[in-house]
Amino acid sequence: MDLWPPYVDSDYVEDVRSFVRQHIAPIADQIDRDDIYPTAIVKTLARQGLTTITLPPTYGGGGKPYGHAVALFEEVSYASAAVGISLITIFQAQTIINLFGNDAIKKEYLPEFAQGLLSSYALTEAAHGSDIRTLDTKAVRAGDSWVLTGEKSFITSGSAAEFFLILAETPVGVSVFGVPAGIENLSTYVGTNSATFGLRNGPHVNLVLKGVRVPLHHLIGVEGKGVRQAVTTLNFSRTLAAAISVGIARAAFDAALQFAARRKAFDQRVLEFQGIQWYFADMLSEIDAARLLIYRAAGALDRGEEMERYGSEAKLIASKVGTQVASLAVQICGAYGTMENAPFGRFLRDAKAYEIAGGSTEILRNTIAKYLLRGVQNATD
Ligand SMILES: Cc1cc2nc3c(=O)[nH]c(=O)nc-3n(C[C@H](O)[C@H](O)[C@H](O)COP(=O)(O)OP(=O)(O)OC[C@H]3O[C@@H](n4cnc5c(N)ncnc54)[C@H](O)[C@@H]3O)c2cc1C
Repeated sequence: MDLWPPYVDSDYVEDVRSFVRQHIAPIADQIDRDDIYPTAIVKTLARQGLTTITLPPTYGGGGKPYGHAVALFEEVSYASAAVGISLITIFQAQTIINLFGNDAIKKEYLPEFAQGLLSSYALTEAAHGSDIRTLDTKAVRAGDSWVLTGEKSFITSGSAAEFFLILAETPVGVSVFGVPAGIENLSTYVGTNSATFGLRNGPHVNLVLKGVRVPLHHLIGVEGKGVRQAVTTLNFSRTLAAAISVGIARAAFDAALQFAARRKAFDQRVLEFQGIQWYFADMLSEIDAARLLIYRAAGALDRGEEMERYGSEAKLIASKVGTQVASLAVQICGAYGTMENAPFGRFLRDAKAYEIAGGSTEILRNTIAKYLLRGVQNATD
């Protein structure tokens, strides 16, 4: 399914594939089973410049168009969506700093990502999931510091993160702060609601802030504009999340195709039943359609145009396709599809979790509908 050449250099994709085959595929089941953060893999990808492929060269990045990131996420997630989500939290942190951070924090932290800095993006709290317009985590200014107090939950990659981007409310509204791990009064714990059935890259952690002090320049962007900044950053990570879903779908498709081509029933190969061929025809069309939406969203990110609409459309469709294809793959493989030692359970669990993480289906629909309503409003004004 070579759809890349119009969007991204095929040699680049081939290099990523070869790394994935050698280093990620062999341990993908183990990462999922043991729920561990794949530190060694992510650090190696960083040394090869892949985790900073879209960052400006001034900060040690590759300066490539966003299609390169999308291809990276699809290929990595073909083997392991857990590695994909481990990379997303790194891209989120560097994106928000690069887009909104002041010069001092950019110079301090962006080059660190090229050295393999591991990071997490902390929005969610026990009482605030989709709705982050107000937060219970507070930040107040005290002399030459910001002081943060509260608790964040569900933090992906938090078991290994060396740096956190944290949303907290100041007297003028929600704001974003960069907080290094290991700083005084910051701790993490694995709570009873920390392990998920999918996208298992180490248990999600709760992040406890008991008067954490960071310098003033660790405020990212404008005080009180944190929600807007976080949502803009989500346009980027939703496009990458969509690529993860397509990677999962493609893996499920290929594994089911291999099985159906070998397995016999009623004196013929399962793949020879027309009903089964139709399943594959539908799945292939849906995967291709989702990928096209993703590359359109990547182009929109490069140009800074209509990012909210295209990123949301890409994630809405790709996450649904991921779950549908993973589910059909089980169906096609019959009992083998349900075996614990077959990969389909992992595909299905990972795909379903991405209909919720990073912007649920309902929130994406709301975003697209808001875009529509704005157009109608403008036309009728
Ligand atoms: C695998 C995984 C990884 C995650 N990683 C992180 C992370 O790294 N950092 C982080 O901060 N958070 C993370 N989260 C949390 C995630 O961002 C939230 O789960 C998500 O924002 C939804 O919030 P919620 O689960 O509290 O659901 P709620 O907001 O309580 O929503 C419950 C249901 O209501 C729907 N709903 C909510 N509002 C509306 C509305 N306005 N219109 C229609 N329907 C609505 C939702 O779509 C959902 O179906 C992760 C979650 C998962 C599953």
